[in-house]
Amino acid sequence: MTGAGTVGACLDAARAALPRLEAELLAARALDVTASALYAFPERPASAKGCACLRAHMARRQRGEPVAYILGEWEFWSLPLKVDARALIPRPETEGLVEAALERTGPAPRVLDLGTGCGAIALAIAAERPAAAVLGADNDPACLALAQENAQRLASTASFQHSHWYTDIAGEFDVIVSNPPYVAAGDPHLAQGDLRFEPKGALVGGPDGLAALRSVIGGAAPHLASGGWLIVEHGCDQGGHTRRLFDAAGFAAVATLQDAAGLPRVTLGRHS
Ligand code: GLN
Repeated sequence: MTGAGTVGACLDAARAALPRLEAELLAARALDVTASALYAFPERPASAKGCACLRAHMARRQRGEPVAYILGEWEFWSLPLKVDARALIPRPETEGLVEAALERTGPAPRVLDLGTGCGAIALAIAAERPAAAVLGADNDPACLALAQENAQRLASTASFQHSHWYTDIAGEFDVIVSNPPYVAAGDPHLAQGDLRFEPKGALVGGPDGLAALRSVIGGAAPHLASGGWLIVEHGCDQGGHTRRLFDAAGFAAVATLQDAAGLPRVTLGRHS
């Protein structure tokens, strides 16, 4: 038994209201203890401020707000990234895009991440390739500010600049990566779960979901070095459409990779 006002009582209250992992994440953050301390030291007193903070977190979660936005931090590629409603929450599927890019680069590639959002992809690649020149671009100044905060927190070598797709991009890259908005405007998923709270500009790719993919794929060639790769994330039902866009833009070695759930998620091609 743990008494009222203890870490254990707070965790019990959170677990009664929320799925276990969410309860643990929110309780650990609100009470400022590690997740293992929640179970190892349940009798420890919880401060009134910590209890109130947890109640507020639980209320936000029960209204549907994503756990990542409540915590204000989310892990991607083992990097703790600041996240908030300015940008899409980094998803585990997108780590497949990072892997695909790393497999196709030498030690010092020039990399462009288009529509960088909170900077997740650019920062992950820069963390793995310290000698790389990684540039993240976004059309939304609020996203750029967030990406720059993340770069500073991680002491990353990645840099960030404004651009609406390729409009302000100069120079040539060995790899262009992008997780553009690819959800169709009328998709019912937009009214469900975390997506309700994420910026529509980061999710919605026009009426058929392919508008941003058309811009990213169609405009890539002049910005790619010979033999350079374009690698994009897309919806699990967009593999065929995306490969056709790569073919129409003259890419070679066009292929679609599956995510951990076995769904077509990333398409790539080589600029010849
Ligand atoms: N993967 C997101 C989702 O469907 C969409 C992300 C995007 O549009 N880039 O939940």
